Amino acid sequence: MTFEYAPAPESRSVVDIAPSYGLFIDGEFTEAADGKVFKTVSPSSEEVLSEIAQAGEADVDRAVQAARRAFAKWSALPGSERAKYLFRIARIVQERSRELAVLETLDNGKPIKETRDADLPLVAAHFFYYAGWADKLGHAGFGADPKPLGVAGQVIPWNFPLLMLAWKIAPALATGNTVVLKPAETTPLSALFFADICRQAGLPKGVVNILPGYGDTGAALVAHPDVNKVAFTGSTAVGKAIAKTVAGTRKKVTLELGGKGANIVFDDAPIDQAVEGIVSGIFFNQGQVCCAGSRLLVQESIQDELLDSLKRRLSTLRLGDPLDKNTDIGAINSEEQLARITSLVEKGEAEGGERWSPACELPESGYWFAPTLFTNVTQAHTIARDEIFGPVLSVLTFRTPDEAVAKANNSQYGLSAGVWTEKGSRILAVASKLRAGVIWSNTFNKFDPTSPFGGYKESGFGREGGRHGLEAYLDV
Ligand code: NAD
Repeated sequence: MTFEYAPAPESRSVVDIAPSYGLFIDGEFTEAADGKVFKTVSPSSEEVLSEIAQAGEADVDRAVQAARRAFAKWSALPGSERAKYLFRIARIVQERSRELAVLETLDNGKPIKETRDADLPLVAAHFFYYAGWADKLGHAGFGADPKPLGVAGQVIPWNFPLLMLAWKIAPALATGNTVVLKPAETTPLSALFFADICRQAGLPKGVVNILPGYGDTGAALVAHPDVNKVAFTGSTAVGKAIAKTVAGTRKKVTLELGGKGANIVFDDAPIDQAVEGIVSGIFFNQGQVCCAGSRLLVQESIQDELLDSLKRRLSTLRLGDPLDKNTDIGAINSEEQLARITSLVEKGEAEGGERWSPACELPESGYWFAPTLFTNVTQAHTIARDEIFGPVLSVLTFRTPDEAVAKANNSQYGLSAGVWTEKGSRILAVASKLRAGVIWSNTFNKFDPTSPFGGYKESGFGREGGRHGLEAYLDV
């Protein structure tokens, strides 16, 4: 008897997506002042999921004023009271996590096993974690009575829509600030569902406001004179523009920007474990991860063995319907992002890189890119320098630990790195020389709300997460 394993996709029916959504201002869903709307599309099918109100300058002003009004009462609440709301939000996220995971997978294109097992548990964990801080700020090493800044204007990208929201909103609320958040234009839905969760949790109106829109909405928010703190996650180019906007103001700013993480594998590393780490390092979320391990630095003596194992492993990855629980590689988030990846990969070939992908059939509709590996890459190649933000790994080699460190640090970015070796002393020696905000050893892409996260160099400044993440929202 043959047994074919054909798992049912996670049902779409667990999430009820309305045909249209408004902006969320002062506790209410409302149309944009100028009536503008845009469509959000599922990248795996190109199906229009919903029509979304698009915030303009007048709406930004309305939302900032609502957040300003709410600030007086919210910041005056005892921390223990603010904590109750955050705990409530965390619990509702957990209760609604199946619905939110399916929603996020539909709007973003990433596999359900990632939204279910990584994004959603981490979203809840961030609200629980910062709820715990809300009544302990006087004991956090920021002085006896640190003060919130006021209204936080927050702009987030599309790669972890709800998780980036949690990174931003949880510490802001715990410290007594109020929020106006702009989600990315290709993934507005989970932020709007989060607005509904705020209502469900009884959060006072105006404390959280959600303004979907494009870059101009984000720019208007950042420039608004009544915003006291700007928190941005996104590309280095936009981060620099934002830094210029706020330079002449008294606004505090944190920037979480791009990366080109080096995953360094020494000859004594456990190969099978390293292969798993390399795969998750660059193919998790189709490589659309700021801290992706997009440069593999492998010690020359094990290059052939490692690449053989890696190619065998890549040949087992399943690409396709992101709602299928067995899918490893989902859709690329947008047509623009797919075009960006394609053009950088073509450049990689033109500059002499050797391109390899496992045999894999791409679905007819939607935006897809096969897992891709480049060998014969030098540090001068564009694909070894520029952030591709896609499922593309560039392989380089090294002979000595010093050479590995020099190559890893030879980047305009400094967000993440990985070190694979059995020698504890080597881990410490190498890690201490790497200029990267997060360094994993014998693992990759592990996140925890207790750990500060952020970059060196053009990967940005300021830290989110952990106790350090509170500081960005306080006058100490
Ligand atoms: P992006 O910079 O184009 O967009 C990010 C957000 O900024 C979106 O909401 C967008 O609408 C908004 N925006 C665009 N122009 C703006 C402007 N002039 N003023 C204000 N807001 C503006 O980036 P993206 O393509 O959406 O995201 C991918 C990038 O984000 C990658 O470079 C990636 O490395 C980075 N990223 C960094 C982190 C981190 O923590 N360091 C996390 C995720 C993504």
